[in-house]
Amino acid sequence: MKKRTHNKNISCPICSNTTIKVKKLDSPYIIDRLALHFNTQVDKNLNIVDYELLKCTECSFEFSYPQIAGSGAFYNWITSQTGYYPKIRWEFSKVLDLLANEKKGVKLLDVGCGDGQFFDQIVKKKNTKIDFYGLDPTIGSIEMCIDKGYKVYCMDIKEFKINNKNTLFDAVTLYHVLEHIANPKEFIEELLSLLNPNGSIYISTPYSPMDFELDWFDVLNHPPHHFGRWNLKSYKKLAEVLGLKIEVFMPLPGKLLVSAIQSFMFSIYGNLGKGEKKTIIKSIIKTPFKFLTHLWKQSQRDKIMGKRAANVILAKFTK
Ligand SMILES: [Zn+2]
Repeated sequence: MKKRTHNKNISCPICSNTTIKVKKLDSPYIIDRLALHFNTQVDKNLNIVDYELLKCTECSFEFSYPQIAGSGAFYNWITSQTGYYPKIRWEFSKVLDLLANEKKGVKLLDVGCGDGQFFDQIVKKKNTKIDFYGLDPTIGSIEMCIDKGYKVYCMDIKEFKINNKNTLFDAVTLYHVLEHIANPKEFIEELLSLLNPNGSIYISTPYSPMDFELDWFDVLNHPPHHFGRWNLKSYKKLAEVLGLKIEVFMPLPGKLLVSAIQSFMFSIYGNLGKGEKKTIIKSIIKTPFKFLTHLWKQSQRDKIMGKRAANVILAKFTK
């Protein structure tokens, strides 16, 4: 990919350093890729604008410009696609394990709680030490939480703070929310003001680029869906500029060979492509060097705690 020098005026939203342009993402291209991804037609009224993907020269954070988030129509459309919300996330149980070490009870706020999947896990684990609350701007999701008997609010952080003055939490969780947000630094600062002095914020996002993005454009990890593409360097920089301590956690990565086969197959067939053994072997025989390139590039993936990076990262921030 050719990298061009970008207009120096647009600085990194995390560390304010200079940026370069990674790629141009025109609206027709995004619409075309969305149609391919879900194998369906894309509504004409989703108000998708032209974007650029920029990268910080200091912390390597990748972000979208302009900072125009996906419209309500866009989210209504995309959330109605099959398989949009995963039911179980690795980080749910990881956070519960980390909180299990706490000696006292924990007051927790899940920001962007959706239909309460994390709360379902808390209830399942019968962890009575956690007094949990949820926040989500989507009324449909909040109604589902209320039906389950969860304590939730249909509002954003600013509204919540106005309505709940002096309410502080020991833990604030944010699962796959930060990558949708245009101003991550300001957003985390808002969350910090909701935290007890000894409290922690737990944030999970995709680890970008994900291993299957090697030679395939993942439209869901780009605007208007995802605004920020996070990696270890950008998380560490975020902690540094906010004066926070950071600890990171990751699940075990997929096996090198499996990642290589997946990214190789995605590069030929896309996400709806053929995963059958016969097709894989045929494709490798047809283009062996291409496959070896994938294998080699996968071996060069970022290393986190001595292992190849997985596709998701959990960061714990403490004051
Ligand atoms: Zn930066």
